[in-house]
Amino acid sequence: RPGELRTPLATVLGFVETLRGPARDDEEARDRFLGIMYQQSLRMKQLIEDLLSLSRIELREHTPPTGQVDLGRVLSSVAEGLEFQAGEKSMTLVVEVPADLPPAVGDSDELVQVFQNLVSNAIKYGRAGTAVTIAAARARRGPVTMPQATRDFCLEVRVADHGEGIAPEHLPRLTERFYRVDTARSRQLGGTGLGLAIVKHILNRHQGALTIGSTIGEGSCFSVFLPIRRRDAV
Ligand code: ATP
Ligand code: MG
Repeated sequence: RPGELRTPLATVLGFVETLRGPARDDEEARDRFLGIMYQQSLRMKQLIEDLLSLSRIELREHTPPTGQVDLGRVLSSVAEGLEFQAGEKSMTLVVEVPADLPPAVGDSDELVQVFQNLVSNAIKYGRAGTAVTIAAARARRGPVTMPQATRDFCLEVRVADHGEGIAPEHLPRLTERFYRVDTARSRQLGGTGLGLAIVKHILNRHQGALTIGSTIGEGSCFSVFLPIRRRDAV
């Protein structure tokens, strides 16, 4: 979607031209236009960062990570980082990780990104005053979309919100770049529409999977499946 970058850039250029020409001596217009230019520039910066991060992940997509990741640590640090954002909507973040959970096979920075995106969506689209639960557990079997090699005995992390939910016709397209259920609102909330595309590519690289369940009026649950080492399988 070339317009995603072109539109804010055209806006900024248009205001620069106006400020150099017709509005040169108009102080009130200058303040207002600078405000808009600043917002649009921030938006472009975020978009460029997300696009670069997506292409970095795509470059490595066929070399799966081999590290061992303690999900308890990853999830607590993600929750801690988003505590303030949740507090602004009087929401609570509940992390549930069994003490004997084996490590995931993965890249901890990339997994932090996955859960940051999912939990920040849950906060963004969840109802004020509700809780977001982030629960990890062993899974006997991953979904059919997970590679055969990693599917038996794996880990599942559910990120569940109480929000407006997503209509079923949107679910298959949600991880497409720039796909949004409500474009205007997502923009207003500062979204680029790349968060779930990044999640999906990271999970592909991990030989994991993402499944999405949602009920209109109740909320959504995003499940992340990740591989474990063979010796941790029971
Ligand atoms: P950003 O790139 O900043 O994350 P975004 O949140 O709009 O922007 P995605 O995270 O990719 O983009 O999500 C895509 C769309 O899926 C959102 O615009 C929203 O319509 C929908 N969505 C995602 N998570 C939820 C959720 N937990 N509840 C309801 N709708 C959601
Ligand atoms: Mg998002």
